[in-house]
Amino acid sequence: MIPFNKPYLTGKETDYIKQAVQSGKISGNGMFTKKCQDFFEQEYGFKKALLTTSCTDALEMCAILANIKEGDEVIVPSFTFVSSAIAFVRQGAKIVFADSYSNNPNIDADIVESLITNKTKAIVVVHYAGVACNMEKIMQIASQYNLLVIEDAAQAIDSYFTFSNGEKKALGSIGHLGAFSFHETKNIISGEGGMLTINDERFIHRAEIIWEKGTNRAEFFRGEVNKYGWVDTGSSFLPSEVIAAFLWAQIENLDAIQAKRKQLWKTYYKLLATQEKYKNALPNLPEYASNNAHMFYLVLPSVEERTQVIEKLKNEGFHAVFHYISLHSSPYYIGKHDGRELVNADKFTQCLVRLPLFYELNETDIERLVLSLG
Ligand SMILES: *Cc1c(COP(=O)(O)O)cnc(C)c1O
Repeated sequence: MIPFNKPYLTGKETDYIKQAVQSGKISGNGMFTKKCQDFFEQEYGFKKALLTTSCTDALEMCAILANIKEGDEVIVPSFTFVSSAIAFVRQGAKIVFADSYSNNPNIDADIVESLITNKTKAIVVVHYAGVACNMEKIMQIASQYNLLVIEDAAQAIDSYFTFSNGEKKALGSIGHLGAFSFHETKNIISGEGGMLTINDERFIHRAEIIWEKGTNRAEFFRGEVNKYGWVDTGSSFLPSEVIAAFLWAQIENLDAIQAKRKQLWKTYYKLLATQEKYKNALPNLPEYASNNAHMFYLVLPSVEERTQVIEKLKNEGFHAVFHYISLHSSPYYIGKHDGRELVNADKFTQCLVRLPLFYELNETDIERLVLSLG
């Protein structure tokens, strides 16, 4: 059976973990954490990067930093993972779910303005499959209404948005705050792991405190204060050096990982584009978005056809999966949703299927898979 995903190990993970363990400093915010954070800041232009234990945690930090309170409204796409919403729900927010574009699962930037009320505090965008949302439009609306933009960039490492003036910016560096995941299903991994990115300097100081259990320990370590203590809310959001050491091995191989994934993605696209039955099911990449080959998916005409495709592939030894039940119709939120229909989110819920894509997959596997789809 070709699995849907297989975590890729570069071979250096255990060496670096051993180094971390032998250094005698295995709690968080040590040498490997700094190496990872410095790399991301320099490579992608984040003003500040903080490793976290997951993307979900990074989003919780965003909700705290954004000062979300009972009764505030946060606009979130419905076709996404629960974490994009749950962090804000925990702070007492009402989630106003937005629909996707008809030809792309990302939030429809043209409807966002119609969802804003005087209670709206933030817009959460999710770069589905690592493909950029329309950040130019979203940032313009946010600035007009004085809202915060939080990028759920869980799937979006090493991916970019190009503005109409030609300026190209890394995803996670455009909104006020961003959140990445290094869960084992993502492009680069640490088992569980994530990162908060801060692009608005107003939030940097407080983010470090929230990260370190509400204490100003980070300042103390830098010698900026002579004792540290409890100064704010927070939690234990930082990962141990063991996790950061694992992630460093992945970062060292980022270019090779990305090159291989893109090659596999292109193979899928090229082969399926020649098939009458599937050429209209291919993913659509807007002009302004790059492709980080996080995912290869098809959007089939109906849920029945999707079920058939998954069955057919299973019989031929390929594990294909679908995901995201629109959050507005999920058991936890159904009674709280305002009743608006979100037809595109529901369409992707029913018709989208994800095909195997991981570093050790090869082109012959893809050729066999496409043949078996027939
Ligand atoms: C994977 C994922 C998350 C959650 O990431 P964790 O690191 O597992 O918390 C959140 N949002 C999206 C869009 C994801 O794909």
